[in-house]
Amino acid sequence: MPGQVHVVDHPLVQHKLTLMRMKSTSTSAFRDLLHELSMLMAYEVTRDMPTHTVTIDTPLARTEARMLDGKKIVLVSIMRAGTGILDGMLRLIPSARVGHVGLYRDPTTLGAVEYYFKVPREMAGRDAIVVDPMLATGNSAVAAVDRLRDTHPRSIKFVCLLTCPEGLATFHGHHPDVPVYTAAIDSRLDSHGYIVPGLGDAGDRLFGTK
Ligand code: URA
Repeated sequence: MPGQVHVVDHPLVQHKLTLMRMKSTSTSAFRDLLHELSMLMAYEVTRDMPTHTVTIDTPLARTEARMLDGKKIVLVSIMRAGTGILDGMLRLIPSARVGHVGLYRDPTTLGAVEYYFKVPREMAGRDAIVVDPMLATGNSAVAAVDRLRDTHPRSIKFVCLLTCPEGLATFHGHHPDVPVYTAAIDSRLDSHGYIVPGLGDAGDRLFGTK
């Protein structure tokens, strides 16, 4: 595969993902689990963020300690299911700025159609993290990153919970320099563009719309 893929194989991540996959998991449990899993994914995706040293006073002594460097991170949510990841990540990175990309999947072509795009005005120099629970056909992810690139962020990473070989091939065929962070790579896509075994429709399960 041409691009970097980080599978977050931590036992807590895998346990929560398994609970999310179960069809018996309720909407509220699914939402809570996505929230918790997103915090763990935020921890991994920010692992190599640059830091700088500051001098601080603890109650006992003056010391040098590290803090995150640079402009505020931008979390870019692909609507609508990206919202679920966004909430969890914002708990861990509360000062992050937020962007939204509205895309829906044309049911016949499975192509991504944009209906909304809003990111902070000054993107140059910022690190962007695009979030969507499912990197399935890869079409929405490609379209979102295409649009984001026009705003010239310093870096772009992509975070999902689940993906599949077809989605990764499409995504990295277009954006080989954008690393993907995922909790699992499933077997395949079905003819409707769903990941198998997957967890079903992430948006419907998150919002209880089915
Ligand atoms: N979107 C979903 O919500 N689920 C899939 O399996 C694929 C795309």
